[in-house]
Amino acid sequence: MSEDLRTLGEFGLIGLLRARFPSPEGGIVGIGDDAAVFSIDGRSVLTTDMLVEGVHFDLAVSSPADVGYKAVAANVSDIAAMGARPLYALLALGAPAETPVVTAESLINGIAEASREFGVAPVGGDTVSAPLLVLSVTLIGSVAGAPVLRSGAKAGDLLCVTGSVGAAAAGLALLRRNDAGARRLLEEFPGLAGAHRRGRARVAEGHVAARESVHAMIDISDGLGADALHIATESDVAVSIKAAALPLADGVPEAARYLGRDAWMFGASGGDDYELLMAVPPSKAEDLARVIRPLTVIGRFVEGSESVLEHPDGSMRPLDGLGWDHFL
Ligand code: ADP
Ligand code: MG
Repeated sequence: MSEDLRTLGEFGLIGLLRARFPSPEGGIVGIGDDAAVFSIDGRSVLTTDMLVEGVHFDLAVSSPADVGYKAVAANVSDIAAMGARPLYALLALGAPAETPVVTAESLINGIAEASREFGVAPVGGDTVSAPLLVLSVTLIGSVAGAPVLRSGAKAGDLLCVTGSVGAAAAGLALLRRNDAGARRLLEEFPGLAGAHRRGRARVAEGHVAARESVHAMIDISDGLGADALHIATESDVAVSIKAAALPLADGVPEAARYLGRDAWMFGASGGDDYELLMAVPPSKAEDLARVIRPLTVIGRFVEGSESVLEHPDGSMRPLDGLGWDHFL
């Protein structure tokens, strides 16, 4: 039998983490004491996001390393959506005692990979036994100038999105289908499963958007339509999105055709793309598109409270209900 967490114990597991994430230089107290200690310049930006087995990930389609990576990246994405930079992380981990040590090591490898990629230093956390694998990451970052809030959009602003959308949702749908045709598409378009397993947070883009004073920003985690609606609601305006304008990721139309679904729906309602949505005054849009590539105009903010999605057939439908809600 391979070793599990009962052989390692809580402090053995913390020891692995401590060895992997030594305290950063400069008087910083990291893993090993009662609390972490550091100082940061600028305004502090704080966020937390939890991944629960069976709700946010399925170990049949994601490796423990993917889960570790995603837990860090999802939080980095929220920091990026404020126009801030990520700095330090706390890792709260729950795992069944029967979890193989190699699974825990793989999880730590994923955390380490994302931490390196996004410049995050894990400095503490908590470790408990739990009936399922749970990883909650708390991230602190800093923003030099003004943070970009959800509430600043004005009627007349353009709704712009970075990168491409729909890959994470289409990838998950194919991974779940898992028949020969789905596997062929996953092989042909590796970006689809990649987007589901390891979304890339847009830190540089968020930073540039803040510097260029976009009016409002959010990262796409609940789904593009739902997240655009969050900006509209917080800003007391409405938003109108053109489905035909969505920059669908490579392979999304092919996946949709295979699965008998609408391609644009993957883009409009799929979560976990971690692209950034911004409210941009029209006078700034061209300049911004020169420094954030690609940046696509997909809609417009308008007066009122009726947010709509214009379907490719020209019909207008309410934007409400196009996203992920844990309790519905
Ligand atoms: P305490 O009992 O004082 O809360 P713990 O025994 O829970 O301390 O943790 C010891 C040290 O290990 C602390 O510095 C804590 O932040 C760190 N730690 C515990 N679990 C994790 C984890 N999953 N990831 C990173 N650091 C952790
Ligand atoms: Mg203590």
